[in-house]
Amino acid sequence: MNENYQSENSSDSKKSIGLIPGFSKLTKEEKLKFICERFHQTPKEAEKILKSFWHEDSEVQKNLDEFSENTISNFPVPYGIVPNVLINGQNYFVPMAIEESSVVAAAAKASKFWFTRGGFKAKVVNTLKVGQVHFKWSGEKETLFNVFEESKEIIRDELTPVLESMEKRGGGLKDIELLDKTDVEENYFQLKATFETCDAMGANFINTVLENIGAQLKCIFDDLSYDGELEIIMAILSNYTPDCLVNVEVSCPVADLAEPSLGMSAEEFAEKFATAVRIACIDPYRATTHNKGIFNGIDAVVIATGNDFRAIEACGHSYAARDGQYRSLSKCEVENGYFTFSIDIPLALGTVGGLTTLHPLAKFSLDILGRPSSKELMEIVATIGLAQNFGAVRSLVTTGIQKGHMKMHLMNILNHLGATDEEREDAKIYFKDNIVSFSEVKKYLSDARDYQ
Ligand code: NAD
Repeated sequence: MNENYQSENSSDSKKSIGLIPGFSKLTKEEKLKFICERFHQTPKEAEKILKSFWHEDSEVQKNLDEFSENTISNFPVPYGIVPNVLINGQNYFVPMAIEESSVVAAAAKASKFWFTRGGFKAKVVNTLKVGQVHFKWSGEKETLFNVFEESKEIIRDELTPVLESMEKRGGGLKDIELLDKTDVEENYFQLKATFETCDAMGANFINTVLENIGAQLKCIFDDLSYDGELEIIMAILSNYTPDCLVNVEVSCPVADLAEPSLGMSAEEFAEKFATAVRIACIDPYRATTHNKGIFNGIDAVVIATGNDFRAIEACGHSYAARDGQYRSLSKCEVENGYFTFSIDIPLALGTVGGLTTLHPLAKFSLDILGRPSSKELMEIVATIGLAQNFGAVRSLVTTGIQKGHMKMHLMNILNHLGATDEEREDAKIYFKDNIVSFSEVKKYLSDARDYQ
């Protein structure tokens, strides 16, 4: 981090303190005061800052407070819109919650580019999710497999009350498989279950079902006197959902890629672009940054719609390493004069449950998107990932990434340096043709102020 960005209170906030018990028992106001008094040189000022981010409607604030523990304020992040995202012939305006400069602008630019070239074609491949009961069995393997086969139907019957509503929607528990994992861990077996959770991400539903299965399995083996002991280690969904997959692509004749801003012919651009994507398939260092760019877009829509971006990221990165090497999630082909850029990505998303209907802006985001099903949301989110990736790779192989990025970042630097509106406007003009860096902007402002 540039040392100029360090907080004035940073040395003070590093004071060593011992264990403080009972913090969670304090009221919100007490927690806030505690933090301000302990960790800020001007507690009254700090309190004012934290409270200034409280929502003016106390009901909304109460709602936000209840999402998580020890809440003392809200942390605002810009909420922007990518207009004109043409997916399967439908024009979407896509909300994004993201702080990083130029992400929304890049997605908007890429979406506009593809709007006039046929738009994005998206298709959900499958929507199955996975959960596991991990356990140890010290007896004969054969006994375990036989008893499991005999008990499978009983276990399913016992689950009826838990599965009923989801089955009515067309979902539920699709399969349970018993896996022998003793070659990797002594006495370790696993029940691998697959689920269809319709419009919900399904974490809580899946975990409820799995804990029920685990408890039943334990009961079966405890009640009957088999020679061996069964110990449940854990029952939990897997965030790796390779069969909850969506595919998105854009394609056009290479000649149609032509644009003066590329600074090269359409053919040269297509080849250079495809080479850059191939490098991201071959080299994990490049692949990580390439996929980070994809998640710039994906995470922002996932957050804006109240979905779980940690689950989405974890899954995406595992999927990127599915053949044993971490690779690009997107691919590009230039063949017979045709350019095709595509992505396959697993996305376990919900449009009901979780925060999707509880967070006021998540609800609003889903309204803007026309209250999509979870499948439609998978298509939208993957599309923004591909658009973002197109924008980033296009910049990289043409102007370089810093030109656009630092232009957007200029505003952050100016704000940090306390520039006035007039200084900001003048700086925007000056830095149109000059390189933006923290030191350059600082020097520019200082010179401009001295001059006055
Ligand atoms: P949820 O617990 O709010 O449940 C959603 C429920 O909505 C369903 O179980 C169902 O009863 C109901 N429903 C109504 N209409 C439906 C429809 N059309 N399709 C499907 N269900 C419908 O949410 P969830 O989806 O079970 O879990 C998501 C939440 O769990 C997220 O907030 C996530 O952060 C959290 N979580 C994640 C993990 C993880 O990823 N490892 C673990 C635990 C919790």
